[in-house]
Amino acid sequence: MHRRALVLFSGGQDSTTCLAHALARFEHVETLGFDYGQRHHVELQARLNVLRELRERFPQWATRLGDDHVLDLAVLGAVSDTSLTRDMAFRMEASGLPNTFVPGRNLLFLTLAAALAYRRGMTVLVTGVCETDFSGYPDCRDDTMKALQVALTLGMDHRFLIDTPLMWIDKADTWRMAEQLGGKDLVDLIVEHSHTCYLGDRTHRHDWGWGCGSCPACELRARGWAAYADTTR
Ligand code: ZN
Repeated sequence: MHRRALVLFSGGQDSTTCLAHALARFEHVETLGFDYGQRHHVELQARLNVLRELRERFPQWATRLGDDHVLDLAVLGAVSDTSLTRDMAFRMEASGLPNTFVPGRNLLFLTLAAALAYRRGMTVLVTGVCETDFSGYPDCRDDTMKALQVALTLGMDHRFLIDTPLMWIDKADTWRMAEQLGGKDLVDLIVEHSHTCYLGDRTHRHDWGWGCGSCPACELRARGWAAYADTTR
């Protein structure tokens, strides 16, 4: 029971840490990404780079790392109007949610992940959702995940476990978790190869990795890194 896991893997800091968490814990791990017409195919490239580097640098994990899947979710563009799918600037809405928010997007991601996991004999769905930094996303909340775990388990008559290792920790602790899982090698890999920047910038290199340095995703990553670095010096 619960030996095979599917990790929702976008190529960012959070999901790369979740992938390492899964590789340390489960016998067989596969990865799933979604292509929803992101302006930044740099994210999809980052996924491949992270997987390649993990295989090369962590042979003990390479034997557990199975297939990578990418599902085309261009349909999201038909039900949303956001800066991820159209050529609009990133901004915060009056609702307090960024305009990149696609209502219920994670519900869709996890439902598709469950269908794939069912077909391939996996029971654990690992996702980097977190209430700590982005409590504005209702589909990232712990209660939503617990309700969805029950709904998917009943609806597919297949016992699912939704594993959310980052739910209650902040970005500094996410770096610490990476260090605990794979030491400095893993931290270095995440800094260099994971991608977080909303603008898809891979031309500016900072202590914490590549990015524009000023979008909300970069700011959050930089703040987390600074807090982490302060305690490791
Ligand atoms: Zn940025």
